[in-house]
Amino acid sequence: MKALNIYNPVKIHFGAGLIGETGKIAKKYSDTALIVTGKNSMQKTGTLDKLVKILKDAGVAPIIFDGITPNPTTYEIDSAAGIARGKGIGLIIGLGGGSPLDSAKAVAVAAKGNIPVWDYLKTTAKEALPVITIVSTSGTGSEVNRYSVMTNTETGEKPGFGYECMYPKEAVIDPEIMLSMPANVTAATGFDVFVHIFEAFTGKAKNAFSSAYCMQAFYLLKDNLIKAYNEPDNIEPRGNMALASALAGLAIDISGVGIMHAMEHPVSGNYSNVAHGAGLAALALESMKYNLNACKKDFMLIAHHFGIKRAGKSDDEYAGSLIEKTKEMLSALNLNIRLKDLGVEKDKLRKIAKEAFDTMGFAIQNNPAEAGENEVLKLLENSY
Ligand code: NDP
Ligand code: MN
Repeated sequence: MKALNIYNPVKIHFGAGLIGETGKIAKKYSDTALIVTGKNSMQKTGTLDKLVKILKDAGVAPIIFDGITPNPTTYEIDSAAGIARGKGIGLIIGLGGGSPLDSAKAVAVAAKGNIPVWDYLKTTAKEALPVITIVSTSGTGSEVNRYSVMTNTETGEKPGFGYECMYPKEAVIDPEIMLSMPANVTAATGFDVFVHIFEAFTGKAKNAFSSAYCMQAFYLLKDNLIKAYNEPDNIEPRGNMALASALAGLAIDISGVGIMHAMEHPVSGNYSNVAHGAGLAALALESMKYNLNACKKDFMLIAHHFGIKRAGKSDDEYAGSLIEKTKEMLSALNLNIRLKDLGVEKDKLRKIAKEAFDTMGFAIQNNPAEAGENEVLKLLENSY
């Protein structure tokens, strides 16, 4: 029997309008906060102004860093960390999607030390400033886990890293903030949730705890992702997808991701205009085919929970029907795309395959089916 160590210290607050509580929550940690956010959406929707007022009313002085781009870079993170250090900030608040939240955690680590954030891939970070996450997509699960994904500004490498000190102290999950997500962001981030569930549920490191999170996340996703996409102003499916994102985020915190994430990171690392979830969409079907025989029972179980009828199908057919169902879901989300549709150049595939190993090797190790660099290259070619 495999030994297990399960730990996740993040206090989770879920509910419509809960951003209003952030002042009280922040004040427990510091009188000063650096808000780490993106360049557009939180300004346009008025959420950033709202947060500033909430913090000021609670006696917390905010400074804004709104230079985080989708697929954030080490340059952006080091810039924000420099401000936090220089101003003696006591708390980092991530506001936005996975990009600002991942950045907030990396800033919290870098601000405590005196080395560039990239160097924390080589040395263990033992301390970080406290972080509060306010999530606006659903999504990466970054709001509740320790991971941060950053792109090296010079090389385009995009590894994920996560130390115990990087867990957010508290996560504010307010589905009202998600109502403004445009359709393509709802689709891409929602499909990311599906892949987190799939990879945590089928990976070698799966266990009873992560699988429990995955199953509930999966139930929520199956009934709510396409609904959230088609009914953007309906708070119910938005709220359910926010829960699914957090549950799947907890699942990957325990059991990690697999080959789809390993391949996608170098895709969006080299092509920063590619949304993480869209990159996953291009890679998913071939990766699922590749994994089918290594975890057929898990495929069948997910197919069952998807509500696919077994009716006379052999094990192979039934497991395979999950791939068909995933394809239907991608079509309904307008995400039936290939790598070439995302602007990836064919002659870059070898570099992407190599970087998948160099920067995300642990995810390939965790994948149910073994894969070497040639197999990964083949998968990329088949997804092109
Ligand atoms: P992003 O945070 O990159 O956001 C994508 C776009 O959507 C941005 O342009 C953003 O605006 C906009 N946006 C976000 N929220 C809203 C909203 N409520 N209304 C309108 N527009 C909105 O997307 P993701 O959440 O998908 O994060 C992706 C990143 O997370 C990648 O770097 C990926 O690798 C990483 N990741 C992290 C994981 C983890 O476990 N930590 C797991 C999986 C992925 P703006 O430009 O203003 O920010
Ligand atoms: Mn992901």
